[in-house]
Amino acid sequence: MARIKKGSLKITQSVQDVLSGLDVDMVGVARLDEIKEGRLTEQAISLLPSVRSIVVIGMEIYAEFLDLTSPERIMGSAALNDLYTRHIEYLRGRLNRASYEIALASHRAGLKALPLSAQGPAVDGRFLEAVISYKHAAEAAGLGRIGMSGLLVTEQFGPRVNLTLCLTEATLQSTADESLRTCRFCNVCVGKCPAHALGWPKEGERYVINRFACRTYIDAAGGCTECVRQCPVASPRYK
Ligand code: SF4
Ligand code: SF4
Repeated sequence: MARIKKGSLKITQSVQDVLSGLDVDMVGVARLDEIKEGRLTEQAISLLPSVRSIVVIGMEIYAEFLDLTSPERIMGSAALNDLYTRHIEYLRGRLNRASYEIALASHRAGLKALPLSAQGPAVDGRFLEAVISYKHAAEAAGLGRIGMSGLLVTEQFGPRVNLTLCLTEATLQSTADESLRTCRFCNVCVGKCPAHALGWPKEGERYVINRFACRTYIDAAGGCTECVRQCPVASPRYK
């Protein structure tokens, strides 16, 4: 679980206490007055204008399920990808519950809150852009860094994490950590992407992804987890 820093602002203690009791694998807080990325701030304010803190919650995706997935469909074979899908559904249920616990504590403190779904935010289909980026919020909360795969890469679980957010008016202790470095720039995700949707970033870019190529491949193949499965960071395959 991410370390809580000492803050100077008055913390909403009743909501802060709920965070430490959540039964999830990762909890982090990005405070609006500290976020450097303007786009994330805009997105959060567009959803809850009075937001003070973005709480990011994460659950580990089990490598055992990931190892059963395949980007290839074989006619007549058992659909092992379904086992992974059910695992993700379970994790999402846990995340949604935690997100609503934060919202409930906020409401009881007389504060507004917006618990978002672990199934992901609404997406603008024209650009495949989410109304708020969970991975950028997680990065701002110090839970990991976005890697060459375009995914959040955490120290504890690599990219094997499911995330959700709760926006709240509560002022909470920030867990931001700019010193974090997780991606090894090993290029494995780029080389293994079956859709060739990932590319080597140019100077000033952190990752290159053709979201449409990725989406088209996932729809046609019935799923793809290669960029998650093949990443060596915190992977039991490389132990
Ligand atoms: S999900 Fe599959 S297709 Fe999409 S970027 Fe990752 S490896 Fe490529
Ligand atoms: S596979 Fe390598 S380059 Fe890609 S996200 Fe993981 S560590 Fe970074």
